[in-house]
Amino acid sequence: MKFISLDGKDICPTKIVCVGRNYVAHITELNNEVPTEPVIFIKPNSAISNEIFSHAIDVIHFEGEISFLVLAGKLAAVGFGLDLTKRAMQSELKAKGLPWERVKSFDHAAVFSEFVTFDGNISELRMELYINDVLIQQANPGLMLHKPDAILSEISTFLTLEDGDLIMTGTPKGVGPLRVGDRFHGKIFAGERSIVEGSWVVK
Ligand code: ZN
Repeated sequence: MKFISLDGKDICPTKIVCVGRNYVAHITELNNEVPTEPVIFIKPNSAISNEIFSHAIDVIHFEGEISFLVLAGKLAAVGFGLDLTKRAMQSELKAKGLPWERVKSFDHAAVFSEFVTFDGNISELRMELYINDVLIQQANPGLMLHKPDAILSEISTFLTLEDGDLIMTGTPKGVGPLRVGDRFHGKIFAGERSIVEGSWVVK
């Protein structure tokens, strides 16, 4: 089983529930339709990684996302996550109306920083992703079509969230391919204060 770190303690999520198409500018950059209800998919525990691996053949896109850890049915902690996606193959699957597991649920497809307990105002959170010290993506709940609390409620209508399960809230615009050697630095802020960060070099 794979673990993530919550306030320095190992936690084993049973699953990662992901939201797709949650930022209008990202929907536009992939020429998708704006959904009326959240697009939801799952990555298994085996997809969790604390390293970023590129792939020799398939182009893998990064998607930086504000991510939450659930405890007792509540959004209890926050971290930075990368939803890695085999984009070319995803376009083929979407065109054929086929499921996305091959392009979203592969080993190392969910990369996370540490998680930290957060009981502040979720609307004050924001995310920044730097690649080689250049700001590439930024996001905050104000830009989301479906806010974190609404996502939690929607998921809870059909799925049991176990303690330690993770929610990825979707990516803003600015997605792109992994390149070997690129330095990724993801940050989560509460207001002006950075509360958790993660750094990786693409292998
Ligand atoms: Zn995503």
